[in-house]
Amino acid sequence: MNTAKGFVVFNNIKLPISASIQEALSVAKKRALRLGISGEVKSYTVYKRSIDARRKDNILFVYSIAARGDYKLPDAAALSSVDASVQSDGSLPDFAFGDERMSCPPVVVGTGPAGLFAALLLAEYGYKPVVLERGGSVAERQEAYRKFTKERILCEDTNIQFGAGGAGTFSDGKLVTRIGDPLSSYVLSRLTELGAPREILYTARPHIGTDILASVVDAAIGEIERLGGRVLFNTKYISHKESLGKVSSVKTSRGEIECGALILAVGHSARDTYKMLIEGGTDIIPKDFSVGMRIEHLRSDIDSAM
Ligand SMILES: Cc1cc2nc3c(=O)[nH]c(=O)nc-3n(C[C@H](O)[C@H](O)[C@H](O)COP(=O)(O)OP(=O)(O)OC[C@H]3O[C@@H](n4cnc5c(N)ncnc54)[C@H](O)[C@@H]3O)c2cc1C
Repeated sequence: MNTAKGFVVFNNIKLPISASIQEALSVAKKRALRLGISGEVKSYTVYKRSIDARRKDNILFVYSIAARGDYKLPDAAALSSVDASVQSDGSLPDFAFGDERMSCPPVVVGTGPAGLFAALLLAEYGYKPVVLERGGSVAERQEAYRKFTKERILCEDTNIQFGAGGAGTFSDGKLVTRIGDPLSSYVLSRLTELGAPREILYTARPHIGTDILASVVDAAIGEIERLGGRVLFNTKYISHKESLGKVSSVKTSRGEIECGALILAVGHSARDTYKMLIEGGTDIIPKDFSVGMRIEHLRSDIDSAM
């Protein structure tokens, strides 16, 4: 037995698409009985659901069912005997806190997913962050987007890349970064608390949808403000000053702000900001990126090859 934090997920429960979720749960319950944990399981929920459509005459739902409760986690051999795995419980890691009081609040630059979640966590932990966003609110962005698409007038700071919610606000909200990071389940469950559909917690390709995404962004901003943070739209970070190896203030397009710590979450479209940082002597490390390639064939060629 192992006592790590987490819960058991029963994988690969394949059922016809006419089957109900209850049928998937009862398969999981039988496996939990074989695993010896059924007495301590408090809830069974759908963890993930995907479709196996490889055979057109036998399309299946493939469920993974989470069994949460107070039990010791079984070892790898026992788990594999019932096609199960252990998932992290989505709790946050134990953060290391400093031992000095911050003289002024931390400043977060950018309200894309990175900046919003950084500011949300800081606000939840009582740091009352100041969030700077060069673009406008969701409503201002919707108007700027309309002006650009209908009248071809570009606003350089409020547009499809810049403004509340960052570059993805006008996307259809596919959550494609679920790459096994233990924090993914925290992020997904926080998104549901902010109004995203509950299905994102278990569908294989979680998807929020453009209309809901805008209101989730608004809700996240509202939550930061409710917890004492300030979100300043149409306020561009220009540069910062350091003193004794710490960031002491931030120069913005609307004046200077004192700053206890600085998080730059400016995304990859803010070329002017990166240029300023490089010219100011900031060390910048490029991150890895993926390149995709699409090869198109004529339908007739594919058919003749099969
Ligand atoms: C059209 C489109 C569709 C997409 N669809 C999807 C999708 O469906 N699923 C998916 O997973 N990903 C999608 N992406 C990618 C996704 O949006 C990005 O990976 C994600 O937004 C990156 O988050 P981020 O917080 O790092 O940066 P960003 O979202 O780019 O946010 C950075 C923020 O910082 C602000 N900022 C920049 N410079 C300054 C400054 N000097 N001062 C103040 N504020 C500043 C910007 O205005 C912006 O709001 C899409 C991207 C685009 C453009």
